Amino acid sequence: MKMRAAVCNKHGKPLEIEEIDVIDPRPGEVLVKVDATAVCQSDLHGIDGDVPGKLPGIAGHETAGHAIKTGEGVHRIKVGDYVCCTTTTVGCGFCDECLAGRRSNCTIHPMMEQAMRQPGRSNSKGEPVSTLAGKVGGFAEYVLLDEYALVKIDESMPVDKACLISCAVISGFGSAITAGVKPFSSAAIIGTGSVGINAIQGTTFLGACPVIAVDMLDSRLEAAKRFGATHMINVNEVPDTIQAVKDLTGGKGADYVFITATTASNALSKQAIEMSSPNGVICRISLGGMTPETMQDIEWMRGLAGFGTSRKFISPMMGGSNIIQDIPNYVKMYQAGRLQLDSLVTGHYPLDKINEAIEKLRSAEALRSIIMM
Ligand SMILES: [Zn+2]
Ligand SMILES: [Zn+2]
Repeated sequence: MKMRAAVCNKHGKPLEIEEIDVIDPRPGEVLVKVDATAVCQSDLHGIDGDVPGKLPGIAGHETAGHAIKTGEGVHRIKVGDYVCCTTTTVGCGFCDECLAGRRSNCTIHPMMEQAMRQPGRSNSKGEPVSTLAGKVGGFAEYVLLDEYALVKIDESMPVDKACLISCAVISGFGSAITAGVKPFSSAAIIGTGSVGINAIQGTTFLGACPVIAVDMLDSRLEAAKRFGATHMINVNEVPDTIQAVKDLTGGKGADYVFITATTASNALSKQAIEMSSPNGVICRISLGGMTPETMQDIEWMRGLAGFGTSRKFISPMMGGSNIIQDIPNYVKMYQAGRLQLDSLVTGHYPLDKINEAIEKLRSAEALRSIIMM
């Protein structure tokens, strides 16, 4: 069938609205009518070519919608189900990792098999159109996705908030859970965009105090405060960020440090380690583009964090979230007023105005812009 999609034909250039053919779901796949997709920093990495991806391609991975067709063998999702579309997996449920409750580390479920498949989308020239920043391809009217990437949610959840759960919430809040944040511990969050703000919500919910937000923009730090940060550090206004964190944590450094800044660098990574306590956990959420330099940086951090201390370094994919349980729980928390999502949404755009929404994120004016289908 035909659908409209915002296609990236050239890295770093504006997306182009095109008519794209999408095939019927193959075995194990579901066709989802997109209701809303948020624009995430990882989409920019996909569009700019900082992460591997084939062009032409469709970005967008923070998506919520309704299942309209299911392929052979699909058993968890039914036509009509309201779903969050993710770039991670619910897991097979039976391998050692799944049984241990770490479903995102599932060793059986063939995520790779899906990644190897043809995209099932093609443009008017008959060229295959891939997906960027994950397998969702949410900047389109429909997405074709493995059922294992979908989680059914309650129909009462507003679409423009549900989509945020598919990435920003599970990555930010989920990382706080995976890092094992304990009551009365201290946490520092470097970078207070949408994912950082959800890490702030997670650490706050799990009982950390102080929760220290670190950023270079006062507007973002103000937002961080509204979402639970107890202290704000503007890196441009203090002589020494590491010392500022130590001063707020009795001199020892933060028990948990989350790096969510999109341009993670050696200098930033080193700073994160130095502001952590000797037994601290450093959690790198942002991949900052999965380039060889980034991978080197991660290896380097792992060594530096481990050297002569009992610090731990983790970098879980999508917060290491057990999405099959966590996503419905986040919906419940939102409905109960315990998870703030409303003020994360700073604008709504039709698909035709997607480049405007992207610019708002690039200029750090927006927390989350939502593309409404
Ligand atoms: Zn498994
Ligand atoms: Zn994302």
